[in-house]
Amino acid sequence: MGLTGLFRRKIVVQCLEYIRDPVAIVDGLSRIVELNSALCGILNIERAEFIGKPFSDIGGLKGLAGALQDCISGQAQQTGQIRLGGGVFNWVIYPVRPGGPAGPDRGLDRLFGVLFQDVTRHIELEEELVKRNRLLMAINTISTVFIYSDEISSVFEKLLEKIQLVTDLPVCWIVLKSGGTFKLRGAAGLSRNFRLKLDAGALEEFHNMVLSRSEPFYVLEPEDFGKYPLFSAEGIAFLVAQPLSVGADKAGVLAIGCRAPVSMGFDLASLIHLIGNHVSLVIEKVRLYEEAEYLAVTDALTGIFNLRYFYDSMALETARAKRYGTRFSITIFDIDDFKAINDTFGHQAGDEVLRSIALVMKGTSRQSDIVARYGGEEFVIIQANTAKAEALKQAMRVKNAVESEYYIDRRIRVSLSGGVATYPEDGQDEKRLLYSADMALYEAKSMGKKQIRLAGGVG
Ligand code: GH3
Ligand code: MG
Ligand code: MG
Repeated sequence: MGLTGLFRRKIVVQCLEYIRDPVAIVDGLSRIVELNSALCGILNIERAEFIGKPFSDIGGLKGLAGALQDCISGQAQQTGQIRLGGGVFNWVIYPVRPGGPAGPDRGLDRLFGVLFQDVTRHIELEEELVKRNRLLMAINTISTVFIYSDEISSVFEKLLEKIQLVTDLPVCWIVLKSGGTFKLRGAAGLSRNFRLKLDAGALEEFHNMVLSRSEPFYVLEPEDFGKYPLFSAEGIAFLVAQPLSVGADKAGVLAIGCRAPVSMGFDLASLIHLIGNHVSLVIEKVRLYEEAEYLAVTDALTGIFNLRYFYDSMALETARAKRYGTRFSITIFDIDDFKAINDTFGHQAGDEVLRSIALVMKGTSRQSDIVARYGGEEFVIIQANTAKAEALKQAMRVKNAVESEYYIDRRIRVSLSGGVATYPEDGQDEKRLLYSADMALYEAKSMGKKQIRLAGGVG
């Protein structure tokens, strides 16, 4: 190389230094003519060591040798992507000076540029977008559950199905606090045995522990297998338990897991966190719905079932008894001389008495009985699967319990009159059955109150 050559090279070197992207210049014999410091920095090589050497000597760029050869042998520019020094680069190889006379020296006259563009950040962003998209799809999938659920009772089961789908984790359950204990509201991917135990409160302590912590979730620890053998019996190897909060109220726990070990990375953590937030929203809605449903069937003053619920239950009970040829009874109670209580102690005190009597009635009735407020100071009990003699016994038990209590600061006691009617002998439909019970009650009143009469005569 002559002086002009050297001078020209210096200019080329300086120019290349201005280019912040990594660049290499190669001649037509695949020899390195120049490398800029951006490229040397990324490859961690000394420029001087490689000038004039074959391009394939640069270890990190071996993969581009074939493409360079293609470009030299007259094909159009070549492009691709390569990992260099922890980053991702798009590369392009193109003829910088394609000309020069034909002949043995031809290769030296021709120059090719190998240019790199750092696309690491783009790829990260793209991956981020894909992840976010996945999260959005997860939210969307889960959101549809509540919107399209017509059956509130199955909303949690459906929710868990979607959670299985978007997390790819097959085990999950939701427990919600109810009256101091946890009630299982949904479970998926669990054995019948585990489910039954869960339902019976076997993991009460575990759920309490999860709620008592301030972290957003609790990942199953090795010592938990000793404390809660149910986990190992079920083969659970990975479990994230997340407190579910509705406002300030810690409403329950959502557990998501797998029978194989899973590492809890940032992505899974964000997904589970997001799911937890959504489940909390669903809980809030379900609570409102259940509250409305409760109010619709509850008597506002006494908290027992209202007339509407009573009529619905009567219709159900009559249909069932008709279908299966079974019996059932109803007892209507009316408080004796209730007006006098109101007149003496005031309406508010009267209300208090009604509330207390309702409580006593509910407390004395059997689980299967439906206790409802029938009217002002009248109550009714539907006694499922109960023939007349047993219905009377049960009605007497309720009557005695109410009459043995004191009311209004222990100042008074009350007495009840009642009428019992039984399906089918006292009425083949609701209307006639009610009429019979009413008649029996009327008879009790007219015979001096404080007694229960049976429809159809003797009592
Ligand atoms: P009887 O022994 O014949 O049943 O006498 P009674 O005084 O209970 O008579 P009746 O059944 O005719 O009167 C019921 C009274 O109950 C009249 C009404 O003011 C009162 N009452 C009805 N609903 C309510 C209520 O919600 N709260 C209060 N405090 N009183 C009520
Ligand atoms: Mg009355
Ligand atoms: Mg009365």
